[in-house]
Amino acid sequence: MSNIVAIVGRPNVGKSTLFNRLVESRKAIVDEVSGVTRDRNYGKSTWNGKDFSVIDTGGYVTNSEDVFEEEIRKQVHLAIEEADVIIFAVDVEGGITDLDQAVASILRRAKKPVFLAVNKVDNHQRIMDSHEFYGLGLGDLYCISAMTGSGTGELLDAVVKNF
Ligand code: GDP
Ligand code: MG
Repeated sequence: MSNIVAIVGRPNVGKSTLFNRLVESRKAIVDEVSGVTRDRNYGKSTWNGKDFSVIDTGGYVTNSEDVFEEEIRKQVHLAIEEADVIIFAVDVEGGITDLDQAVASILRRAKKPVFLAVNKVDNHQRIMDSHEFYGLGLGDLYCISAMTGSGTGELLDAVVKNF
């Protein structure tokens, strides 16, 4: 398989909403390991005449904070191995959290293209609020609303240039 895009980020930033917006067909993979449910959804998409696969990571549920962070790290490392391009989703409502910092520090060292998608930018005021995410040290921001689709075209234009 080639042309793989993985969506990573902490819970509730809107990864699955973005995945659902991007994909045209999907297959769900659910894997239960000692109380932690992990699922990675795989879907297919096309943009500007380029076909690619999309992976939604981190649909697991757990009530331990440590397991949580460890799971996210695992998912990010797996995504770096498996994908050609990473979309790192963050949430303008929540601002930068410790988990965002942890993910960013892994991705800064990844030798794969990383696109920082600031989600939930549903209105113009939130564009101003999104600027704090430059602090993650990952370069350009793509302000999107996975809910309305705003900004996702610009993000995909940039992503498929790698294919
Ligand atoms: P995930 O845990 O990262 O997969 O996040 P989800 O896709 O499940 O979304 C978490 C919550 O954020 C849900 O209640 C979504 O409806 C909401 N959400 C997702 N995208 C947006 C958005 O663009 N704007 C707003 N306001 N809410 C969003
Ligand atoms: Mg999800």
